[in-house]
Amino acid sequence: MSVFERRYELMPRSELDQLQLERVQALLVRLKRNVRRCREQIGDVRVESLEDMAKLPMTTPEDMAGSFPYGMFALPLREVIRLHSTMGAQGKPLVIGHTRNDLAQWGRLAARQLVASGVTANDVIQVCLGAGFYRGALGYVLGAEQIEASVIAEEPFHIDSQLAMLQNYRPTTLITTPVNARELMRVMDERRIDPQSFHLRTVLLSRPVDAAEREELSAGLLVSVQSNFGIEEVLDPGLCVECPEGRFHVNEDHFLAEVCDGELVVTTLCREAMPLLRYQTRIACEMKPDKCACGRSGATILPGARLDGRLRVKETPFYEEQIAQVLAQTRAANHNFWTQVSESEVVIFVQLTTELFSDMMWPLGELQRQIEGEFLTRLGIPAEVRFVQSAP
Ligand SMILES: [Zn+2]
Repeated sequence: MSVFERRYELMPRSELDQLQLERVQALLVRLKRNVRRCREQIGDVRVESLEDMAKLPMTTPEDMAGSFPYGMFALPLREVIRLHSTMGAQGKPLVIGHTRNDLAQWGRLAARQLVASGVTANDVIQVCLGAGFYRGALGYVLGAEQIEASVIAEEPFHIDSQLAMLQNYRPTTLITTPVNARELMRVMDERRIDPQSFHLRTVLLSRPVDAAEREELSAGLLVSVQSNFGIEEVLDPGLCVECPEGRFHVNEDHFLAEVCDGELVVTTLCREAMPLLRYQTRIACEMKPDKCACGRSGATILPGARLDGRLRVKETPFYEEQIAQVLAQTRAANHNFWTQVSESEVVIFVQLTTELFSDMMWPLGELQRQIEGEFLTRLGIPAEVRFVQSAP
């Protein structure tokens, strides 16, 4: 069995509980000292055992969005060495910051996943997540450096250069999105390229897929398929390790996970720049404390659907509210609309009114193209606009 940090990943439950308790207590001291919001909310609450967690206030995605850009930071900016942006509640922007220690930890946590996926120092890893909202590439690159594998850092996903890369650089592990992996499989099939002509052994997907899709990718690319589950505001990759049994173990030495009313709630135990106390992830979840055959002691979670209406097209996340905001910038403002979301595009049905129909300046075809263009530039999602008399 391959484990990167045995001491922590296989730590006996009682020791892990004690470590979590000590780290929560230290976190509360840091939060009360450095984050005004937390000082007021935490007040005199003391945590003497993990059961006391329930007494602590929660942090919502709306709290995060409301403190944009640096209100959640627990250290002055001069100690933060890396900033990146991600999407918060209802599409609002968020800044995530990392100190040098945060980045070092991120590398070790990502390395746990790589090692669990069978990657060693002898492997060539290609990180190809494609340009977009997902910021996980840095974590995988840091992780690959930890285990001293050769890493080809993030490349934009372009099918011809991807195929050339697989032929010439001979990566043995490809870290990519499910959409890219499927596209690769489709084109290889179409061009009759034998997957055995490559050296690829493992594909690590940026997010979980169902068993049927995993099976299909595994058979089509002749690789073992692993996946990651992370939350960008918390850490992604690095929150969990998917073990060879196909379970997601929370890295409990770094994160305290709770399931409250069916929602995954996470406390970061070690992060310096942006610690989060009982962050409500808006992701449905089940948690299983029972033992796993892989020997890891971290609780296993079964992540489910988004609870906040976040949608996704071609790996790009967005919210229904953002569709209304984009339409409001066009001639179709204040019109009824309905949406239909698939993996590859969103179809927006706009109710046709005499106002739109009789506007000589904007023939409908042109208006349609204009609105589609707005969706691509503003949200980065491919959209198809159709004018309809009534709800489809
Ligand atoms: Zn396991």
